[in-house]
Amino acid sequence: MSSSVERATTHWPTSSSSRLLVDGELRAGGAGEFPTVNPATEEILGFAADADARDLDAAIGAARRAFDETGWARDPAFRARCLLQLRDALTRNVGWLRTITVAEAGAPSLLTRGPQLEGPIADLGFFADLAESYPWITDLGRAEPMGVPTRRWVHREPAGVVAAITPWNFPHQINFAKLGPALAAGNTVVLKPAPDTPWCAAAVGELIVRETDLPPGVVNIVTSSDDARGAQLVADPRVDLVSFTGSTATGRAVMASAAASLKKVFLELGGKSAYVVLDDADLRAACAMAAFAVCTHAGQGCAITTRLLVPRARYDEAAAATAAAMSGIRVGDPADPGTICGPLISARQRDRVEGYLRLALEEGGRFAYGGGRVPGMERGFFVQPTLVTGLGNESRVAREEIFGPVLVILPHDGDDDAVRIANDSPYGLSGAVHGTDLERARSVASRIRTGTLSVNGGVWYSADIPFGGYKQSGIGREMGVAGFEEYLETKVIAESA
Ligand code: NAD
Repeated sequence: MSSSVERATTHWPTSSSSRLLVDGELRAGGAGEFPTVNPATEEILGFAADADARDLDAAIGAARRAFDETGWARDPAFRARCLLQLRDALTRNVGWLRTITVAEAGAPSLLTRGPQLEGPIADLGFFADLAESYPWITDLGRAEPMGVPTRRWVHREPAGVVAAITPWNFPHQINFAKLGPALAAGNTVVLKPAPDTPWCAAAVGELIVRETDLPPGVVNIVTSSDDARGAQLVADPRVDLVSFTGSTATGRAVMASAAASLKKVFLELGGKSAYVVLDDADLRAACAMAAFAVCTHAGQGCAITTRLLVPRARYDEAAAATAAAMSGIRVGDPADPGTICGPLISARQRDRVEGYLRLALEEGGRFAYGGGRVPGMERGFFVQPTLVTGLGNESRVAREEIFGPVLVILPHDGDDDAVRIANDSPYGLSGAVHGTDLERARSVASRIRTGTLSVNGGVWYSADIPFGGYKQSGIGREMGVAGFEEYLETKVIAESA
């Protein structure tokens, strides 16, 4: 494989094993170590500290003390300074982080210039600014409720100890979309990253200790091979808020467990977003963009559009145009700067995607392109970009999240029908509309029940944009001021006047 990725500028200071960050100290895991694997080569990259229940207990205790017993929660200026230090440390070490991200997450290097790494690092600045500019206290003025002269204020305060539980597909984006606002808001955090991407998170822990003034216990990073650590974190009564990103099935388990102690839960879950091509759109251009979107990072993005809705009269033409565009997308080494479609994260994920490819045929579908592994690529968890034709929106392939480069193309009978099909999904995360008449395209966009929508290729990803889902795609919003406010409580002080 070519290796045109930047050279690492930093290495793990002591060995090829990453460590936990607990109470300001880097330490080994009580359960030993577990391997982290390069999904493009299937080679073991190195090892990560494997936290046991006692490590996690110590991390939660440290976060609790840092919240309850230090000035962190009441010092926005200091928090802003620490967040900017972290942003600058990450920026100084971006070459090292890029190497890890490409090797461990299989993220195309090209994407690390944007949402896989550099974008989320820069976004920390947005939350640092918010810590300083946010109106923490609102004066509601005087009133005489029940005849009692009273002066009222609304205070916004941090929620407390935040459990941040994250998946592997965009590890930095999701870790920083939780750390940034949670810390800016004055919380302390225990971050439990996915077992597939421990180094992406552990590298941040190293930089926090070496290059920032973040006080001990404010950020704890607990890598583990065992999902039980996530469950332990959710159940612990010392945790005030759970911020979870992952599958809808796990999100359901998180919500049920958090109910026992009535914790606030914030959930970013799965999607099956529609890409709607209206009958006045440039069909070929729109289909090419849809093909490109589903191949990006091998389709491992919750908000990627995976149902392509095209006018029924032009279904065959659209399928041919989409297949032609897919055939021009190279599947390959994520370190190659030209790659957009790298590997799936693991053999398990490839099994899952291949299961859906079999299901597509069982349900009566056909492959207009792809449908299996990539010929000639023996190593790595690669699958071909795949276009499934001949299925309806009621098929499982059209309803369930596959999390691979698999697009199902469906016919619609006009704008109302396109809206109906787009909304006929258990999910409501994102989507796209393409049409020449902007008023029509806007009208369709306004009727689709999802958290974000792109019209004619507009980009909704940005630090100031709230992101999240309707229906089974989640509860709450991440990023933007709305994402920051998820990490706040509201307190009213009413003073006799
Ligand atoms: P997952 O649900 O299997 O795991 C996510 C995290 O939850 C991991 O850290 C895992 O260890 C932990 N976990 C597992 N069981 C747990 C439990 N019972 N209690 C607490 N934590 C537990 O998801 P994944 O396979 O890592 O990621 C892929 C999924 O994430 C997809 O469904 C994708 O759509 C979703 N996702 C959503 C968004 C979004 O913003 N909506 C973003 C990225 C990924």
